[in-house]
Amino acid sequence: ERIMEIRRKNCSPMTMKITYYKKPVFLHQGYMQWLWDFDGNRYLDLFAGVATVSVGHCHPKVAAALQRQLKKLWHTTNIYVNPTLHEYSEKLASHLPDPLKVVYLTNSGSEANDLAMLMARLHTGNFDLLTLRGSYHGGTQQTMGLTSNSSYKYPIATSSGCTNTMCPDVFRGPWGGSHCRDSPVQTTRQCGCAQGHCMANDQYIGQLKETFATSVPSRIAGFFGEPIQGMGGAVQYPKNYLKEAYQLVRERGGVCIADEVQTGFGRTGSHFWGFQGHDVLPDMVTMAKGIGDGFPMGAVVTTPEIAASFAKAYHFNTFGGGPLACAVASSVLDTIKEDGTQQNSHNVGTYLMTELAKLRDTYEIIGDVRGKGLQIGVEMVTNKASRDPLSPEAMSEIFEDIKDMGVLIGKGGVYGQAFRIQPPMCITKEDVNFFLAVFKKAIQRYMD
Ligand code: PMP
Repeated sequence: ERIMEIRRKNCSPMTMKITYYKKPVFLHQGYMQWLWDFDGNRYLDLFAGVATVSVGHCHPKVAAALQRQLKKLWHTTNIYVNPTLHEYSEKLASHLPDPLKVVYLTNSGSEANDLAMLMARLHTGNFDLLTLRGSYHGGTQQTMGLTSNSSYKYPIATSSGCTNTMCPDVFRGPWGGSHCRDSPVQTTRQCGCAQGHCMANDQYIGQLKETFATSVPSRIAGFFGEPIQGMGGAVQYPKNYLKEAYQLVRERGGVCIADEVQTGFGRTGSHFWGFQGHDVLPDMVTMAKGIGDGFPMGAVVTTPEIAASFAKAYHFNTFGGGPLACAVASSVLDTIKEDGTQQNSHNVGTYLMTELAKLRDTYEIIGDVRGKGLQIGVEMVTNKASRDPLSPEAMSEIFEDIKDMGVLIGKGGVYGQAFRIQPPMCITKEDVNFFLAVFKKAIQRYMD
């Protein structure tokens, strides 16, 4: 009661939008994939904040690294030589292929994307940017312009007419991913071709080319793409979609930015970075969330050539790359290796996808199951024939029921029609079985 009163009086309106509004969850403790509320109820966390806790809540190794650094040094800015920043930058760069070797540390994903926008513009001398439908790239004024979904924006018109819903300098490419409602071929799974997904691929890539031919300017600064869309509801692109997009962008003088805020650090299982699953090499990689296992941090990693263009500008970030964040992030990289986190993401994610696909074939209201590793979306529909998105009320009913049975998941998609599963990557097959039993019960109860 008292906490809700404080929320009403002293917290910003935006933070009032809590996920479980019928019966809020008051969380106060976490360990690995588990969370506890004040009444001692335990929840299996399958959303990790929003895909942020990578190796586990309060992971003992990461917590110990933070504690060691807490006793040594909390803060210096990068006007001093701070060894933790240098050591971490070297370690992070070793996880990226050549020539992606120059690291800029920030405090969040929005800051990282903001910085990448500036770098792309300075490097190319061009101004316009391209993103895809369904994308989310941040909540700062600039990155909100990149973000496609209008529900994350504010309708404020600037003097140049930018409403933050669609800035004049940001062009929107088709989203080219499986999505029940809007795509020309409803899901890649249904394309009907003998070899897999070629028909759907051709159609999406055709759309992409059409967009470039008709609405993208001849010179652009850059293209932002999430390797798998996160907030969009785990939307995956067809094979070669990003590859084609990168080529078309580069023909127009632009640089290509992979937004790995959700997909990085092994989340997609088969690769450490999501872009590696698309056979592309970005010019910049932006990251946050999983980088710090919940500790605020972000980064842009780019090439020496782009860094040289950027060196002309004055760039300062008081907290970016602080000793505490670097100590935590360094320990996260070690832990991913020591705990086999990426492999677990692959194994458990593959198992979960297989089991969810069985539920999709059983239940009329599951329209699509998609994703990779532990970045999974389950699209809910009124029925398979119409493929209309399930209503927000119905989504909430199932969502709250799942929570009441002890599992936290996420929601996403432009119609809020996708359940999202992006847990701490330490979950086990037993956890998955528990979730599946809960999910089945919730669906059954809703349908009855
Ligand atoms: N990019 C992507 C793909 C994201 O999902 C998010 C956050 N949901 C951001 C950028 C922005 O990150 P932050 O909230 O840390 O600013």
